[in-house]
Amino acid sequence: MNHSVQLHIAGSWRDGGERATLPNLNPATGETLGQIAVATRTDLDEALEAAERGFAAWRKVSAFERAKVLRKAAALMRERAEDIARLLTTEQGKPLAEARIETVVASDVMEWFAEEGRRAYGRVIPARADGVLQIVVREPVGPVAAFTPWNFPLNQAVRKISAALCTGCSVILKAPEDTPASCRELVRVFLDAGVPGDALGLVFGNPAEISEYLIPHPVIRKISFTGSVPVGKQLAALAGQHMKRATMELGGHAPAIVFDDADVEKAVTLLSANKFRNAGQVCVSPTRFFVQERVYDRFVDGFTEAARNIRVGNGLEDGTTMGPLIHGRRLEAVEALVADAEAKGAKVRTGGKRIGNRGNFFEPTVLTEVPLDARAMNEEPFGPIALINRFRDDDEALREANRLPFGLASYAYTRSSERATRVSSGIEAGMVSINHHGIALPETPFGGIRDSGYGSEGGSEAIEAYLTTKFVTQANY
Ligand code: NAD
Repeated sequence: MNHSVQLHIAGSWRDGGERATLPNLNPATGETLGQIAVATRTDLDEALEAAERGFAAWRKVSAFERAKVLRKAAALMRERAEDIARLLTTEQGKPLAEARIETVVASDVMEWFAEEGRRAYGRVIPARADGVLQIVVREPVGPVAAFTPWNFPLNQAVRKISAALCTGCSVILKAPEDTPASCRELVRVFLDAGVPGDALGLVFGNPAEISEYLIPHPVIRKISFTGSVPVGKQLAALAGQHMKRATMELGGHAPAIVFDDADVEKAVTLLSANKFRNAGQVCVSPTRFFVQERVYDRFVDGFTEAARNIRVGNGLEDGTTMGPLIHGRRLEAVEALVADAEAKGAKVRTGGKRIGNRGNFFEPTVLTEVPLDARAMNEEPFGPIALINRFRDDDEALREANRLPFGLASYAYTRSSERATRVSSGIEAGMVSINHHGIALPETPFGGIRDSGYGSEGGSEAIEAYLTTKFVTQANY
């Protein structure tokens, strides 16, 4: 499949107006896979005009018919899954097995929203006078500007596109320049399923320039962004200044509390698998591990062994269980976090270094006894780093879990239902998963609180963000 990527504007695939391009790089080899078209201001204006036309037409298609189109997209995604998964691994790095799962989840997301869009019901409110009808109507908010990152190129985009389309909105997707071809394939799936060309645009370029132009533009009525906290705060401020609806799915720093009554082996297996999935470049990745004294050594030994057993390599090769980091900047950031933690007194149980000098490979890393002032204990590492510290009592664990301003995912392992309840009510997070890793399903809410953002990208809550409420009251004489 072709790794060179064009823009999709007003129903046609094309290069950017000035024919400028950016390279699409393979993170496992450093090779240039192809070129990405860069959108000019004129391209963005045309994409906006198309989004306006696309919205006017698509909102008139019934929810029933829109659902058929989304179900067809899900079927096409399943048909093309193997080719798309290979493309995704080549430009993103994750093991092929993980890329295949991402294609399956993308189809599931499309199907969920296909059905949920048909249930965007309004309601009738009993009136105070005879002959008066009071109804609440839900309407699509309008053209959406969606900004998505590279860690789950399909899944970050499919949630936003599906939620928008199922409610009758049009979308301009500013997809990640690090993984452009898998996003192009996702857009193609929707278009081939019957989404009108004007209703779904795809652009690339300088992320800041594009967001600064699209967000204030009067055509755009809603923003959805997934990415880092600092960028999310900037974009949310801009959206606020122009009174635009916004969903912000930002970074996390998930605590994972392992109590002394937990099934420690299960905790080691599930938490290590989820820590190193996608090389730790996951906003809900368990990151700060708090383990109770009595089981601390057992947990650390088991976790360290699990980290050592990971096979790092090219995601296309059989047996690889962890791929490279996305780009050189991430590699440098992760190296610096480990060096800082070590300098401040953390113990490196395994890993801590870059592997080789070709591709962005980094060792699965376990740090213990990490001081609270280490940068990694405060900044989202977004890489294969586990930080494990011990705690004495439940209050201490909860206090430490809630210490940071993030509030996305959180995890706990305990056999006590009383403790489980105390954690789920005491922890400040948008998602709490106890004794298993059970988040990010299409039918369940997905989102954070505090610095991790607002709004939800899953469950029935997700489509709320794409709907406005109109109250109609009518007296019949
Ligand atoms: P980055 O901040 O440069 O980019 C992250 C994403 O945001 C990219 O897709 C980028 O294109 C986009 N972006 C950046 N500035 C933007 C702007 N002004 N307007 C619109 N989009 C913009 O960082 P990076 O090094 O590529 O990624 C690392 C950091 O990004 C991590 O520390 C993590 O916090 C965050 N991130 C979060 C998620 C998530 O799922 N929440 C996913 C990827 C990255």
